[in-house]
Amino acid sequence: LPVLLTGASGYLASHILDILLNHGYPVVATVRSEAKASFIANRHDSAQTSKQLQFAIVPDIVAVGAFDNVFLNHPDIYAVIHTASPFHSKIQDPIKDILDPAILGTKNVLNSILTHGSKVTKFVLTSSNAAITDPALKNDGSACFNEDSWSPVTWEQAVNDRNLTYRGSKKFAEIAAWDFARDNAADLNPEFSITTINPPMIFGPMVHDVTLNTLNESSNALYKLIKSSPPNDTSLPTQPYPIYVDVRDAALAHVLALERGDSARNKRWYVVGGYFTTQDVLDILHKHFEDQVGGKIAIGKPGQGALSLINSPKYDNSRTVEQSGLKFIPLEKTIVDLYTQFLQLEKCA
Ligand code: NDP
Repeated sequence: LPVLLTGASGYLASHILDILLNHGYPVVATVRSEAKASFIANRHDSAQTSKQLQFAIVPDIVAVGAFDNVFLNHPDIYAVIHTASPFHSKIQDPIKDILDPAILGTKNVLNSILTHGSKVTKFVLTSSNAAITDPALKNDGSACFNEDSWSPVTWEQAVNDRNLTYRGSKKFAEIAAWDFARDNAADLNPEFSITTINPPMIFGPMVHDVTLNTLNESSNALYKLIKSSPPNDTSLPTQPYPIYVDVRDAALAHVLALERGDSARNKRWYVVGGYFTTQDVLDILHKHFEDQVGGKIAIGKPGQGALSLINSPKYDNSRTVEQSGLKFIPLEKTIVDLYTQFLQLEKCA
C-alpha cells in the first residue's frame, strides 16, 4: 500500500524518497509544480515507469481541502510522511510566509486523512529541534533537552520576532498534530498513530534540484560559515546551537518510524547525530581539503572544538536511539560529503 510523501522536492524529502523506494514502498509524492515532479521523475526513471512512484501536484498546502484529491485518487494510502513546511529566512509576512504553511499545511493533511483517508494508520511529521529547545538557554551549559522538552516560544513572539517565527512554526505545527490526533481519535482509523521526527541542523549531501544560489537553509548556513571564516582568525569560533544530524540519518528516521511498530507509536524522535562546533568543521576541512581551503579559511585552535561546548546546552536522545535503532553518521563523513559537493557546485557556477 502506498505512502504519501509531501514536499518531495525538498533537501530532506529527496533522501526520504530514495529510502522509501529502496525499501520497496509504493510512493505518492506531492510537489508544487510539474517541473518539480519531472526533476524527481528523471532521478527515479524505473520507479516512475513501474508506477512505484506517482506524483500529485498540490500548489498551495494552505488551501482548504488541499490534499483531498490526493486521497480521493489514492484511497489505499496507509501512511503519510509530511515534510512540506517553509524553512527560510526571507520573511516578509511571518504569518503568511511561514506560520500558515507550517500549521495549516499540517492541519490540512490531517483533515484530508480524517475525511478521505480511512486506511491511514501512520502519520510521520517532520518537526524540529526548534520545537524542543529554549533559545534563552543557548549559553547555559547546564541545560539539557530531550524528547519531553518543548520550546517556550509563544504565538506573539513567533509573529513579532522574526528570529522566532520559524521556531514557532515548528512548535505550533507539531502541537496541532498531537491535538488533532487526540481530538479526532474516535473518527480516525483505530490504529492511527503519530511519530514526530525532531532533527537539529541537517547537513550532508544534497540530492534535490539545487545550485549554490538555491541552497536550502541549513546547507546555506554551513556554506556561509565556511566562507565567512577569515583566514587570520585564531580565536575559537563558537556556534549557538551546536548539534547536527546527517541528512541520510534524518531521512532514515522517517522511514523507520513506519517500520518500528510500537517503539515508534506516538513518540517524538529527537534525531541528533552529535555536537558540532565551527572549530570541528574547520579541522575536518583542513584535514581533507587543505589544497582547496589552506590560507582561505581560519585555522582557529585545532582540536579544541569541544572547549566551546562548555557553555552550550546538552542533549539526551537515548530514548530515540533505543526506539529507532539508529546509528548516527559521524560529523567528519557528513562534512566531507557535503563539502565535496560544494566544490563540485563551485566548479559549475
Ligand atoms: P527545503 O526548503 O529543501 O524543503 C522544504 C519543502 O517544503 C520543499 O519541498 C518545499 O517545496 C516545501 N514547502 C515549503 N513551503 C511550502 C509551501 N508554502 N507550500 C508547499 N510546499 C512548501 O528544506 P528541508 O528539506 O531542510 O526541510 C524539510 C523539512 O525539514 C521542513 O519541515 C523543515 O522544517 C524540517 N527541518 C529541517 C531542518 C534542516 O536543518 N534542514 C532541521 C529540522 C527540521 P518547494 O521545493 O516547492 O519550495
